Amino acid sequence: MSIKDNLKNIKKDLPPHVTLVAVSKTKPIEDILQAYEAGQRIFGENKAQEMHSKHEKLPKDIQWHMIGTLQTNKVKYIAPFVDLIHSVEREKLLAEIDKRAKANNRTIKCLFQVHIAEEESKFGFDEEELMEFLASGRLQRYANVNVVGLMGMATNTNEKAKVQEEFHKLSNLFKKLKKQFFPNSADFNTLSMGMSQDYEQAIYQGSTMLRIGSSIFGNRNYT
Ligand SMILES: *Cc1c(COP(=O)(O)O)cnc(C)c1O
Repeated sequence: MSIKDNLKNIKKDLPPHVTLVAVSKTKPIEDILQAYEAGQRIFGENKAQEMHSKHEKLPKDIQWHMIGTLQTNKVKYIAPFVDLIHSVEREKLLAEIDKRAKANNRTIKCLFQVHIAEEESKFGFDEEELMEFLASGRLQRYANVNVVGLMGMATNTNEKAKVQEEFHKLSNLFKKLKKQFFPNSADFNTLSMGMSQDYEQAIYQGSTMLRIGSSIFGNRNYT
């Protein structure tokens, strides 16, 4: 199956409120262009320099999403153009994004990444940590970031019930934070959860944004 057919197959069953991020990490420019020609405009990368170099080479109406763990010293590579950073998992990173956004005269949209999986290797705020941060009011310091929601990754397992429970937890946290800390924000509307393996479950639990790589572009040789 071609990239175009894969995209078509995924998109035909997506509810209208769900946005598809095509995860193109490690994939060559030609593959991204195939998806672009099929109408895809949002692409996800997990390395700042790789995103930067792809941005240089590809059409400028592509919206680039950072989905991977971001080191503070790499923010500068993507700050001029990145559309949404899914992976904000500590305040220090938020502060750096704010600083670089300001220097570029723009606001950068961000999601808080929440740790919902069993694996310790997966990053993110703990629920209590995030509650504490939001309750502190310190988010107001960062005028050039616009926090528009949450992102999470479920445990990599075939146990459907476990994945379902993790997504359910994140979805509840999203609703709770929205009510408590963003009651008047029209922007806090994005719940980024669901990958190739588990996106149907994620939609069922209220996801509004899917990050899908291998089901579109085929398996990666490395991640
Ligand atoms: C690689 C990656 C994805 C896409 O994974 P697939 O299984 O290829 O769909 C989604 N989210 C994050 C954070 C990733 O690193």
